[in-house]
Amino acid sequence: MKYQAVWKNAFLNTTSRKCKECKEVPERIGIAQYPDGSGKANESICSVCGDKHISLGSKDIEKIKKENKESREEMISRIKEIGFYKDNYYRKVSDSSTEDLKAMLLRSEEHQAKMDRLNAITFTEEELFLEGYFATDYPDLIQSENGLRSEEEIEDYFRSDYSDFFDCGQGFSQDTAVVLIKIGFKFYHVTLTAEIGSAKQDIGDRLYWVEELEKVEWKETEKPKPILVKSYSYSFEFTLEEKADFERMLLQHEYKF
Ligand SMILES: [Zn+2]
Repeated sequence: MKYQAVWKNAFLNTTSRKCKECKEVPERIGIAQYPDGSGKANESICSVCGDKHISLGSKDIEKIKKENKESREEMISRIKEIGFYKDNYYRKVSDSSTEDLKAMLLRSEEHQAKMDRLNAITFTEEELFLEGYFATDYPDLIQSENGLRSEEEIEDYFRSDYSDFFDCGQGFSQDTAVVLIKIGFKFYHVTLTAEIGSAKQDIGDRLYWVEELEKVEWKETEKPKPILVKSYSYSFEFTLEEKADFERMLLQHEYKF
């Protein structure tokens, strides 16, 4: 017969209790704790009978406690080592319940795996190369090797620092910005949407500022081509009527002038 009991270490039998199993009055006596739901009450048993329980498959409750303590400590030190969760003013990592620690460790390890994967990404010179026209035609292009190694990093990259992308001040505000970025060989248009705050001023127009970044959305786009539009100046001698005709013709052909 396999016992389902859990044996708790013996302590001095100062009240001369009898062992429930062998009916002896041992020098030291312990408790067999039955699992919850087994319907059995705890029993006082001697260490000989307790050891018999364990040899037949019962668990040593002291050992379980020790193992739990050790595994808690292992989880805490691993969580702290990864650093995704830190002690803060409100709570220490070590004050968390065992269930919370398990969940925190899982989340930490997922984070670690993601960081390891991102840190392993490197770009070749070819991938980082930009033709000369990008400097003149697309001067605001962002290509960052460290903060933008994968699509996964786009959101965090912009959430960490976004106020420069919105033009806000006294009397003017901008709540949407489109930013061109490059990751490896791929180009993306990132659309940032912000919540704008404002306040009335004693003198002059309202003052506007970025309250919060609401959305970061992105879409892969073709590699931008050089901007080939140039300006040319001509001078014509027209009557007002001829000028109007000429401009109508330009509009029909969708020329910009
Ligand atoms: Zn006994």
